[in-house]
Amino acid sequence: MKLTVLGSNASSPSRTNAASGYLVEFDGKAVLVDAGPGVFMKLAEIMDPGSLDAVILSHTHVDHCADVLALFAYMAYGPSGPIPIPVYAPAGAKEHIAAFARAGADHVFHQVLDFREQEPGDEVWIGDAHVTFGRAVHPVPALVTRFDLGDDSLVYSGDTGPGGDLANLANGASMLLSEASMQGIRGPKTYVHHLTAVDAGELAAWAGVGQLVLTHIPATLDSAVSVEQASSVYAGPVRYAAPGSIFTITTTR
Ligand SMILES: [Zn+2]
Ligand SMILES: [Zn+2]
Repeated sequence: MKLTVLGSNASSPSRTNAASGYLVEFDGKAVLVDAGPGVFMKLAEIMDPGSLDAVILSHTHVDHCADVLALFAYMAYGPSGPIPIPVYAPAGAKEHIAAFARAGADHVFHQVLDFREQEPGDEVWIGDAHVTFGRAVHPVPALVTRFDLGDDSLVYSGDTGPGGDLANLANGASMLLSEASMQGIRGPKTYVHHLTAVDAGELAAWAGVGQLVLTHIPATLDSAVSVEQASSVYAGPVRYAAPGSIFTITTTR
């Protein structure tokens, strides 16, 4: 499996980094995981978005889903459109996003974006990859996603606080792509709907993952400090999901 970081800035795009978006490729399949602002153009730089096989949206906060509207418009009105594409997303995502597009029942929106609501515990196949969804701890319905392809596995936290299904879903994974929205030690006043870099490191250690990639780090924080803080509690390799970076996921430890 191959992971390409299209954008990794928390909460919004920055001048040099789109908001959350990742391209996951395996066995000729291409899956867009999250589609924050700026992600569509970064995707179009490296492939024809019309060739995507599926989209997964972790949740409907703007920084994770706004560019699914850009994708819709391209798929509907672009050179080869309309092109239907499955969109795996949490409960309510279809209504939320369709409302912004003013898409009534007969609208081309519904011919293009084939929403398939997922609940924690649901499982789907995308090509040869088995995809499992879990519950993220966030103010809106939100999913943790695990890809399994043979012995290789990738777990993406989406946005989540501590608890939920992330630790169990990450158990033994080849790679954990985890949000690390904050730095420092968690205290009673630390925001409960996001993780610190230390939280991500502790999860990676508990779950025994092969490697940890930190993402959703705001431009105001130094990502090297986040990597250092996660490394203080997790002995495996820790890297930052810098925009444009490519990671190969194998079980090699
Ligand atoms: Zn976010
Ligand atoms: Zn969020």
